[in-house]
Amino acid sequence: MKASKKKKQLFIIILGRPGSGKGTQADLLGKKFGFSHLSTGQLLRNRAKKKDFVGRTIKHIQGTGALVPTPLVFQIWSPYIERFFMKGKGRGIILDGSPRKLYEAYLLLELLEMYGWQKNVRVLNIAISPKEAMRRLLKRGRFDDDAPDVKNRLRVFNKEVVPVLKFLKKKGMLLHVNGEQTIEDVHKEVLKKLKI
Ligand code: AMP
Repeated sequence: MKASKKKKQLFIIILGRPGSGKGTQADLLGKKFGFSHLSTGQLLRNRAKKKDFVGRTIKHIQGTGALVPTPLVFQIWSPYIERFFMKGKGRGIILDGSPRKLYEAYLLLELLEMYGWQKNVRVLNIAISPKEAMRRLLKRGRFDDDAPDVKNRLRVFNKEVVPVLKFLKKKGMLLHVNGEQTIEDVHKEVLKKLKI
């Protein structure tokens, strides 16, 4: 690659059990390299502040640790990706914690393909054990972090996100990262795996 050549924009997906530090790693990476950080969970929490029907429904779903319907998720993703694409600059997008369901994954890849980004996708799997996830989440104390909700989110992870990981692995997009290290060491491994 020539030194002057513009770096390829990347669409980085960060997956991992609740509590694996996806958000922290997305922030670190985003700040260092100028990626836009697309946090679906956070944008849905913001949407839930509006106390209309959809807002209240999202709040209720998030409170139980279940998944918000896919069409609502794409109402957030599609314009965000479109805005980024139209601007034409920036290092890329980091999507943290999603896709959470197989068909979210299918639809997202279809959308990215439309923008010609299918070769720009990288998926990081920040791996921690279920026991470690439980320990970390109960310490964190967000409104959906009490014991029954945490258990439910871990169940949802096994049922919905593990098939997503398998699908993305088959596509050759998955990069494994050991999440049971210091934040700094996880970050270093992330950089190594992404080769950036
Ligand atoms: P997070 O901040 O990523 O832990 O997400 C918090 C909550 O937002 C989840 O428990 C879900 O209820 C909802 N959520 C986040 N991302 C998605 C997604 N991609 N699909 C459906 N629901 C989601």
